[in-house]
This record gives sequence, structure tokens and C-alpha cells, in this order.
Amino acid sequence: MNVDNLMNNLEKKHPGEAEYLQAVREVVESIEEVYNDNPQFETANIIERLIEPDRIITFKVPWTDDEGNVKVNLGYRVQFNNSIGPYKGGLRFHPSVNLSILKFLGFEQIFKNALTTLPMGGGKGGSDFDPKGKSNSEIMRFCQSFMLELWKYIGPEIDVPAGDIGVGGREIGFLYGMYKRLKGDHTGVLTGKGSNWGGSLIRPEATGFGAIYFVQEMLATKKEDLKGKTVSLSGFGNVAWGAALKAAELGAKIVTISGPDGYIYDPEGISGKKIDYLLELRASNQDIVKPFSYVFEGTQFHEGKRPWEVRADIALPCATQNELNDEDALTLMNNKVMMVAEVSNMGCTPEAVEIFNNNDIMFAPGKAVNAGGVATSGLEMTQNSMKMRWNSGEVDDRLHEIMCNIHEQCIKYGKKDNGHVDYVKGANIAGFLKVANSMLDMGII
Ligand code: NDP
Repeated sequence: MNVDNLMNNLEKKHPGEAEYLQAVREVVESIEEVYNDNPQFETANIIERLIEPDRIITFKVPWTDDEGNVKVNLGYRVQFNNSIGPYKGGLRFHPSVNLSILKFLGFEQIFKNALTTLPMGGGKGGSDFDPKGKSNSEIMRFCQSFMLELWKYIGPEIDVPAGDIGVGGREIGFLYGMYKRLKGDHTGVLTGKGSNWGGSLIRPEATGFGAIYFVQEMLATKKEDLKGKTVSLSGFGNVAWGAALKAAELGAKIVTISGPDGYIYDPEGISGKKIDYLLELRASNQDIVKPFSYVFEGTQFHEGKRPWEVRADIALPCATQNELNDEDALTLMNNKVMMVAEVSNMGCTPEAVEIFNNNDIMFAPGKAVNAGGVATSGLEMTQNSMKMRWNSGEVDDRLHEIMCNIHEQCIKYGKKDNGHVDYVKGANIAGFLKVANSMLDMGII
């Protein structure tokens, strides 16, 4: 494999798909050596078969708003690779959604799912629908129309979607209700379901909890722990609140949260009642960042700014892709950050990652750090198949074990001679080997 030739060809085939091309480049650069040391991969042309999705389904989603206006959004499902299990990955509802973003997310998902050690392939989907400011009825009608098309292509052994940006428990409920009605059976086709109807305990907080378990493992390599550390995090959605909750429980101080309009700095730390209040605001479908700063004295709202300018020991991007760039990385470095762990997918730009690597700042990629979400989705699928329900302690223990295992895999494939761990390389190689060897076993299909 020659990375430059491969990427030039891919750019010609998919011009303008910036996020997808960025994600592919990161993986192929880090697996190049292993790939070329194992000629069986090249003989079977594994890489070209891996970087293109198995299929992409696109459809229109007509729905009616509360005033009776007929709207049309675009819906997608990218079924990327099912070599190790059914396609598995979230649905994102956000106005920025396009094919490049879903292809990058689907591609990342292949390796992340392989790292969990559970039998799940990679996929992703979503729509350019914006749930913000919509009524419950509008969201329900949209989700029902979305599922009216998607249900033909998914199933517990085929493709199992879940949540992502803009898709939480409420949306999964509406989507599942429509699937159940169309299909006429009650199966584990979506994960993130309500705990009364097949959902796993701990799933809502799993991505954030898992991320903090991973951070604990990273810290342990330096004989450190979370107690007394300051943590800056962005966003306050599905993943950020779980991360905040667990980090606070383990003695860290969360000093920032953010939204698209700016960030909050809270020198006292965000925990307990403050987290409960933020969750209430979130559940009521409102902007959360500004109202929070009005209620809690001593907190400061920084309009139009990102939280990375605040001094912290650990930075956790938890909002969206490329939300932390080279300028932010330099600021963090000057403020002596010790670790950056992506909880969002591809939260840092390649330039930012280069700065962390060149300056011995520990950095771990989303596909390892946030894998606890999909891992617990996998545990939900297992419970659904067994018609069993594990208690929260059991699920949490398994999640913890999986995160420790992912960290070990990163060390195994990413540890350099000088002892520094390249978590990007480690995660990519570990995930790639599992998928590539499975593809080899199955022949050219
Ligand atoms: P949510 O929609 O629940 O939360 C996203 C948060 O980020 C919200 O607080 C949102 O603010 C904020 N946000 C969105 N866009 C921007 C922006 N451009 N700048 C600053 N803040 C922004 O999404 P999730 O928590 O589910 O997902 C967050 C990240 O984690 C994504 O990268 C996702 O792919 C990844 N992830 C999610 C998993 C899950 O289990 N949900 C699993 C693994 C990864 P507002 O609501 O005000 O727009």
C-alpha cells in the first residue's frame, strides 16, 4: 500500500468529502507498516475493500410541522462493513449532516466496534433534520417518517442503529415504536431503548462512564489518578453528562461545559445539583449554557468562545468533530495540559493531534475513548437475545472491563521504544487486524 497514491485516488473518487478523507487518512497512515509487513492483505486488496462502504441508502423524509407546513429532509444509512457482526452505529440528527460526515463516522465505527471485542460491524446514519426548537409531536412525526423508510434495511442480525448527536432516548422511542408497528415484532433492533422495553441499564451514561474509565487507565500509566484534577469538557449532551458525572464521582473538578454559542466556566466545579439542573434543561429541549450561568452564581458565560482557553489538567472534547484545532492545542499546551482524550468522534483536527504528539501530551482518539457507548449497546443486544436483564452493577462491571481491555490493546500496538504510547496507532492497528483477518477468512466478497 502506498498511502499517497491511495489517498489521491480516493480524493478523485470522492471530491469534497473532507471528513471522510480525513478519517481514512488517519487510519491508513497508522496501519501502513503492519499492512505492508503482511503481504496477504495486499494480495486480497483489503484496504480498497475496507475504505468503501458496502452500501449507502439515501431517502427523503417528508413530515408535517405543527402549523401544517410540509417539510422534507434527507435520510441516510451507511452500511460500512459487517465482517465481524451486524452493522452497528448511531443515527445523527443535525443540520450539518451530509454523506461525508456519515461516511467518516461509519468508517471509524468499524475499528471502534472491533476494539470492544463484541461481534459488531460498522455503520452510521442520520438526517439533516434539526430537532432543536421542535415540539415533541414534530419530533415524533419526523422519526416515524424516517423509520417508514429505514425499517426495510435494518434488523437485529442485519443492522442495529442507536443514538448520536440529536438522537437520545426520546427519539429512539419514537423510532422503535414505528419499527415495531411496521415489522409486527418486538426485537432488539435499536439500542438505547427505554429500560422498560428492552433497554440496558447504564446505556445512557455508558459513553461518558467508559471514557472516564479509559482516562483512569491512561493516568495509571503515569501513576496518577483523577482525584484533584481539573477537567475542561465541551458540549453537554448524551456523552458529556456521563463523563462529568463519573469524573466528579472520582474526585475531579469539571470546570467547563459548552454549547454552540459559547462556554461556561465554573471555578467551583460542576457536579451534583448542577448536573441535575443541566439535565432538566436538556430534557426541556432548551439551550442550556446561558440559562445555567444565570442560575448559578460565580459561573461565567464566554460567548462565542471554546472551553480550551481555560487552564485544566485534562481536556475532554465531547461535542462534535474537529472542535479542537491547532490554535486550541497550542493554548492547552501553554497552559500545561497533561492529557487530551477525545470523547466526541474525531474531536481534534490532525494538526492539533500532531502538536500533542510532538510535545509529549497524552492523547487518545475517540474510537478508543468513546467505545463504551457502543460496547454497552452490544451488551443491550446480548440481553435482548437472551431475554435477560442485567442489573446496573453487572453492566457497569462489564463496561469497565471492556474499557480496560481496549486500553491494553492500545498499549500492545501503540507503545513506542521510548515508552510513549501512540494511542491513535494502537487503536487503529488493533481494530484493523481483527477486521482485516476476518475479511481474509471469508474470501473475496
Ligand atoms: P448530543 O447532541 O447529545 O450533544 C452534543 C453536545 O454538543 C450538545 O451539548 C450540543 O449543544 C453541543 N454541540 C453540538 N454542536 C456543537 C458545536 N458545533 N460547537 C459546540 N458545541 C456543540 O450528542 P452526543 O453527546 O450523543 O454526541 C457528542 C459526540 O460524541 C459526537 O461526536 C458523537 O458522535 C460522539 N459519540 C456519541 C455517542 C453516544 O452514545 N451518544 C457514542 C460515541 C460517540 P446543543 O445541544 O446546544 O446543540
